[in-house]
Amino acid sequence: MAQFLFLCLTKTNFYKFLVMCGIVAYVGQQDALPIIIKGLKRLEYRGYDSAGVALLDQRGLSIYKKKGKVAELEKFLEETGDIHANVGIGHTRWATHGEPNDVNAHPHYSSSERFAMIHNGIIENYEVLKKDLLQKGYTFQSETDTEVFVKFIEDIYQHNGCSLEEALRLALHKVVGAYAIVLINLEEPNTLIAARKGSPLVIGVGEKEYFFASDATPIIEYTNKVVYLDDYEIAVVRNGELQIKTIENVETNPYINQLEMELEAIEKGGYEHFMLKEIFEQPKSIADCLRGRLDAKSGRLVLGGLREYMNKFQNAERIIITACGTSWHAGLVAEYLFEEFARIPVEVEYASEFRYRNPVINEKDFVIAISQSGETADTLAAIELAKSRGATIFGVCNVVGSSIPRTTHAGSYTHAGPEIGVASTKAFTAQISVLAMMALKLGYQRGTLPESTYIQLLHELAAIPAKVEKALQTNALVEKIAAEYKDARNMLYLGRGYNFPVALEGALKLKEISYIHAEGYPAAEMKHGPIALIDEEMPVIFIATQDSSYEKVVSNIQEVKARKGKIVAVVTEGDTQVKALADHVIEVPLTHEAFTPLLSVVPLQLFSYHIAVMRGCNVDQPRNLAKSVTVE
Ligand code: GLU
Repeated sequence: MAQFLFLCLTKTNFYKFLVMCGIVAYVGQQDALPIIIKGLKRLEYRGYDSAGVALLDQRGLSIYKKKGKVAELEKFLEETGDIHANVGIGHTRWATHGEPNDVNAHPHYSSSERFAMIHNGIIENYEVLKKDLLQKGYTFQSETDTEVFVKFIEDIYQHNGCSLEEALRLALHKVVGAYAIVLINLEEPNTLIAARKGSPLVIGVGEKEYFFASDATPIIEYTNKVVYLDDYEIAVVRNGELQIKTIENVETNPYINQLEMELEAIEKGGYEHFMLKEIFEQPKSIADCLRGRLDAKSGRLVLGGLREYMNKFQNAERIIITACGTSWHAGLVAEYLFEEFARIPVEVEYASEFRYRNPVINEKDFVIAISQSGETADTLAAIELAKSRGATIFGVCNVVGSSIPRTTHAGSYTHAGPEIGVASTKAFTAQISVLAMMALKLGYQRGTLPESTYIQLLHELAAIPAKVEKALQTNALVEKIAAEYKDARNMLYLGRGYNFPVALEGALKLKEISYIHAEGYPAAEMKHGPIALIDEEMPVIFIATQDSSYEKVVSNIQEVKARKGKIVAVVTEGDTQVKALADHVIEVPLTHEAFTPLLSVVPLQLFSYHIAVMRGCNVDQPRNLAKSVTVE
């Protein structure tokens, strides 16, 4: 699929309190537990505070849950004995209400233990509901909003004498907040009931079997047919049939999407960590991103998602890029690209600041929202805000069918394939690749980029995958350098121009996975503060590739050297000037300066990876982090 083909939502979603966690559920003929456990492991990037399952067999409805990773739960289940069931639900938690412990882990029982529920999200009015239920004599074991939610549903069920799905429907009119939930019912062994608002939920449709999951990765092994549940929809699978209706009780026709994702894409393929695999996948992921869009020979550049909105884009008075974290860094690179090639002013905004600032924005603005997961809560909220003021919104996302592509007017997928490591790597380079294509297209169409330069740049961009391949050959050298600096307490990353955002990204990677404090700065800003930090203990990582600010960066390197700082520099192949100054140099191939971030970031990704491994850190699941930050 080459483009987002998404319509505006009819309902306004503010995605204010979305949170993480992974949900998996199964109903069919197979053994549910192994499917759920495997699925939870694939979703662990979404949270790993605790994990649990509820299984329904002839003996009844049983819950097993444990603090910690899915592996802990698995061990616990093995000790418990042989468990087989054809229907079950599972959850890996990213705690919001109540500390990560066994009791707060999901699933949660209703009072009668007739129902059990898993939940991704936050129920904002849970305290009011809880107070009411306490008055009615309900008791609570956990501190979670989820337990309140399931008991509230049961209260309606008992009070109204209706079906569980009707009780759920009524309850959903009363709860405020975000949820993706799946309910299992002791009295209906071939049934699962799910609902969503804000948090993602995908339904896999197999041969008389159904899968529910927070994303498609637990599903693709079994079926490539999926239905993305929409906000305010309830899905009921009963005796092999799927029915979807809105919370207004209107039945809808489920649209079945065919997934193109391959199973190998979400497995480690011989690498020790997903992060390393994903770093090494970059030649392919960038090529996949360019494929079918860029043909340098014929001078053809097509971004399907842009077609309909090209006019708006070309005539925009301003481009606003909104994103968080690594995607924000890709946005900063894009600022240089768009301004240089298309001569339209660009502002790059942290989504979290933008949404709360009452920004000046109108229908002449073209807003680009960047998010790997397509679920980032702050970015979603920024989109809603910009949309409500009439701006055109274009998404650059990796996860197909996620919330941002479904909310924006148009967009382009990055096609980097599933990114499982929490620290983003291949998504970053794919984002820059999409944004570079957009900038070239825009510049050419607006006449700000002469044809000859345009063609030359297309050739340069097409050559990037092979050059990334070469940049990856620095791996052994980078590992050696990493060994030397693994015990550092601080590091400074400096770059200028296109490589200033790369300095930020390099520092972020190091912080995220090795827990070493690092700062990224524009190299020239160093003398306005950070230079005070430099002594013989301080490693300074320079990006000093051949570009228009090279000579200036060399001067900055001199300044650090004069203060005895340790210098590691990423340079262009054949460099001699920096080599003479730096303690270590890492060479990447020459390219047009606009595309240097795609190469210079590679050794920095490897550097943080090796340091984290040497420090014994959990590279793929760093502490306190989660992959798609769906909490504001
Ligand atoms: N709010 C719920 C809790 O803290 C669900 C969190 C999640 O989405 O993992 O248990």
